[in-house]
Amino acid sequence: MGYVIQTEHLTKSYHTGAGDLEVLHGVDFALEEGEFTAIMGPSGSGKSTFMNILGCLDSPTSGVYRLLGEEVEKLSPDQLAERRLHYLGFVFQGYNLLPRADLLENVALPLLYAKVPAAQRKKEAQEMLERVGLGPWSHHRPAQVSGGQQQRAAIARALVGHPSLILADEPTGNLDTQTSDEIMALLSGLNDTGITLVLVTHEPDVASYAKRLTRFRDGLLVEDCPVTDRRRP
Ligand code: ADP
Ligand code: MG
Repeated sequence: MGYVIQTEHLTKSYHTGAGDLEVLHGVDFALEEGEFTAIMGPSGSGKSTFMNILGCLDSPTSGVYRLLGEEVEKLSPDQLAERRLHYLGFVFQGYNLLPRADLLENVALPLLYAKVPAAQRKKEAQEMLERVGLGPWSHHRPAQVSGGQQQRAAIARALVGHPSLILADEPTGNLDTQTSDEIMALLSGLNDTGITLVLVTHEPDVASYAKRLTRFRDGLLVEDCPVTDRRRP
């Protein structure tokens, strides 16, 4: 089996007023299909920068990133858009839903970008909302539902292109413990169906749902090991 994700000596520098600031110093990382890793590490250690590169939301300064065997830097914009829809889904701490659109429209958005016809968009978005337990809420706007439900809708949006990989950057960061556990049960269940999962979290309790733990410090991957006492929903 090939790797879903593979990075070779990935670096990232930001241009700042004070000059170039390197925040990833050469990260080698690989993930096979079906894996579920939790990325932990202090604030500012480069976790989000790394996730944004994995999610093709940002590009590395140097090094190689392969997504399902293909070098992302070599893809055309059209190829990249197609991969974004069908290979990966991204879940953010703040849900990032459009406030004026209902949940159905939010979940259907990636399909709109992919020019899927309206009737099919609606049908597939409704199916995904049902999969995350939000079937009856499709015509509510984000502000009319709870934080946990908003995150479920964001997960449905990440799933709508049937990706092989879900990237979640602190998805439970704004949620109470019980709601966090519900979201982790949902994400663990997706991994059980074969979806590869990368999750960033500060919480050891949340990380313990994962099969593997990847630790960052000061822009470097400093530890990568199996989770021994894995928590199951
Ligand atoms: P984490 O997610 O682990 O908290 P980040 O990846 O967000 O860390 O940030 C890593 C470092 O990069 C931090 O020092 C942060 O201040 C810096 N950084 C992140 N984004 C930018 C940016 N757009 N411009 C300049 N510096 C940035
Ligand atoms: Mg972060």
